[in-house]
Amino acid sequence: MKTLSKIWNGFLNIFGIRKNSRYVKSYLNEANMRSAIFMSSVIFVLEIWLVLRQTQKYIIPTLMDSENTASIFQVLFQNTSNFFLLMSMGFAMFIYSIQYVSKVRTVKRLVWTSIFAGFSLIICCLLPLEFYYKSIKFNNDVNIIKGVFKIFFYISVVLFDIGIIFASIYRYKGGKRASLSSVMVISLFAFVCLMFGIMVSYGDFVSVKTVKDASGNLVYMPDGSGNVMYENKQIICFLMFTIYIGCLLIWNPLISIGILGTLFLGFYFAIKGAANFGQRRFPEGDEVNYLTFVISLTMVCISIYNQRISEAKKDEELEELATKDKITGLLSFEYFTILAREKMKEGDLGWGGGAYLFLNLSGFKIYNDQKGFEKGNLFLRETGKIISEVFPDTLISRQSDDHFVVFAKNEQLEEKIKKINEILEVRDPDVKLGMKAGIYVTTDRLERPRICVEKARYAYGNLKKLAGNHVIDYYDIEMHDDYLMAQYIVTHIDEAIKNGYLKAYYQPVVWSKGRTLCGVEALARWIDPRYGFLSPGKFVPVLESSQLIYKLDKEILRLVCRDLRHNLDLGLPVLPVSINFSRADFGVIDIVQVVSETIEEYKVPTDLLHIEITESALTDEEDTLKNTINRLHEKGFATWLDDFGSGYSSFNVLKDYEFDVLKLDMKFLTGFNGNEKAKALIKSVIAMADQIGMKTLCEGVETAEQAAFLEESSCGRLQGYLYGKPLTYDELMGRIESGEYNLAKELLR
Ligand code: C2E
Ligand code: CA
Ligand code: CA
Repeated sequence: MKTLSKIWNGFLNIFGIRKNSRYVKSYLNEANMRSAIFMSSVIFVLEIWLVLRQTQKYIIPTLMDSENTASIFQVLFQNTSNFFLLMSMGFAMFIYSIQYVSKVRTVKRLVWTSIFAGFSLIICCLLPLEFYYKSIKFNNDVNIIKGVFKIFFYISVVLFDIGIIFASIYRYKGGKRASLSSVMVISLFAFVCLMFGIMVSYGDFVSVKTVKDASGNLVYMPDGSGNVMYENKQIICFLMFTIYIGCLLIWNPLISIGILGTLFLGFYFAIKGAANFGQRRFPEGDEVNYLTFVISLTMVCISIYNQRISEAKKDEELEELATKDKITGLLSFEYFTILAREKMKEGDLGWGGGAYLFLNLSGFKIYNDQKGFEKGNLFLRETGKIISEVFPDTLISRQSDDHFVVFAKNEQLEEKIKKINEILEVRDPDVKLGMKAGIYVTTDRLERPRICVEKARYAYGNLKKLAGNHVIDYYDIEMHDDYLMAQYIVTHIDEAIKNGYLKAYYQPVVWSKGRTLCGVEALARWIDPRYGFLSPGKFVPVLESSQLIYKLDKEILRLVCRDLRHNLDLGLPVLPVSINFSRADFGVIDIVQVVSETIEEYKVPTDLLHIEITESALTDEEDTLKNTINRLHEKGFATWLDDFGSGYSSFNVLKDYEFDVLKLDMKFLTGFNGNEKAKALIKSVIAMADQIGMKTLCEGVETAEQAAFLEESSCGRLQGYLYGKPLTYDELMGRIESGEYNLAKELLR
């Protein structure tokens, strides 16, 4: 059974009776059109040659003949009209196929195609002249067949000319069913050539025996007497068959074999039948040649067809790789942007504009961890299907991980997201799944899809900032300003570093005992020529999310080392500086290496730098982090745990990591006044740190009361506006010089 179906399938394949994908169809069609370019140019050249030949062989001798009574026009018409007709058709076809294949549609090409098709159309209109000049006669059986062939030939030319003009206009206007019209054009063209081939070859094979009557006209004698008029067996017919049926076969072998077979057989019997009218017999050897020719031609064509099919499939696979997302089968993001761009240009944005949605599947990471990679992938696929069902006939892509993007009409978007969430809610009892969306609606047809998706993503990012459980946020005007700012930051960070727009400001840190200055924290500022003073709240999150924060951190480190070197060189007071590193740095740079190289360059002692790592970093890659901290210790740098208590503090962090100093987040001090609980908390955190051998620093100290409390609770260091806001290097040095700050005694030499 298996082998039977295999054989059957093989049969279907060979004859092209399988269903081909749209891609393969259009591939075949284009291959067809490419062959049409070559074949039409063959026709074109061939006909020029034939016109020259006719001129030399018949026209000139006839005109020179003193007995000739025909007018010049008649002589020209009878000897060359068919060739001119084919030549202009060939040229029209040539331009049309070039226009088709090159995909560039120009008016010039449209005009040329029409002019040449029109030219052969005009020649066709001269058909009555053929009767007038008696080129077509109906005075015997053979002539009737010849005449009918000729009339068919003219009809097919007229159809082709009209067809190609319409197809060109359609194609030029960007019609969607261009491939269908091109199949029609090619078929008609092949048909014309077949008719021509048959007409000529038949006329030649049935070499009519005639005698001249009294007035010089040739008369057919039923008894077969007289002179044979034509005997040069023209091969043109075969040529046409070969080329054009070959061309058709590539598009659809079965249909073509049908046409080929019928015409060959019909032609064969017509010639055989001619013998009955007393004509020259069809030579027996030729009969066999004929058959072999048809068979081998068919085979060659089928082989070409199958070769093309396999090429098309390979191409299709490659294209699939490039246009489809492997996991979900949705569009690849690249391809999504291309299609979205086309859609936007077509202007089909509906009344409410086109909407870009950036969708994020929440809970997916947990799902993946619980169920494993494979199930995770299946679930992504399922999610893709859910989105496709809720957003039918739209462009959908998986951009990365569990992020999907959709380009849809701006209609009932909220309802649709709600629907997706309803489906997801009941999907899995163990994991809470949900879908959140950032939406950007545009009416600007020329806006680039990539930017639109960025904006939708930006709106999604904003969701986190909103209070409550929102699942949708639209990109709006305010966000637009932020977005532009974010864009500006990302694209100008290099320039800012190069031109020195980034500055290191220094905020004083004091010992709680005696309040003498024991160090500073370096805080970044961006003083931009266009936007003026920018605080880290503006640029740090943007640089973090775009993984560019390492550039800033490296620069601040360099500026700090440069300032330290400066003071060391001039013998000015030197304060230890703590430097902030972002959690986003760990994956991108080797902090230990960067710090070591920089202090080497500026010859700064290791004990002058403290490395601050924020608490939220510890939730990420534990191993990398532990490793980094250990290596920093080995090199002699102190590590400070920043923002302790601001987020998901876990006391395990203190157990698992070797930090030297614990920085209590300023949140501990909010609502400090009269809040006994807050006080108790601070006290116990400090006590606990003390017990495990960690020093403490409290941030955000603004009042003397707070400072007194912290001193009493044995917090080691204090930092806050009470002791100074972040200052420029010059301000800081000025204040030290003026005696506003007293240096801690260990810093005095
Ligand atoms: P942070 O590391 O927690 O820095 C302390 C922030 O608190 C600074 O804000 C400082 O000006 C502010 N501050 C200090 N004392 C007080 C006070 O008494 N009251 C109040 N309300 N605020 C006080 P800033 O300079 O705006 O920096 C914000 C954040 O940006 C920093 O928080 C840090 O996370 C980040 N950042 C700043 N510079 C850098 C840098 O060079 N690299 C990295 N990765 N992050 C940086
Ligand atoms: Ca800090
Ligand atoms: Ca902090």
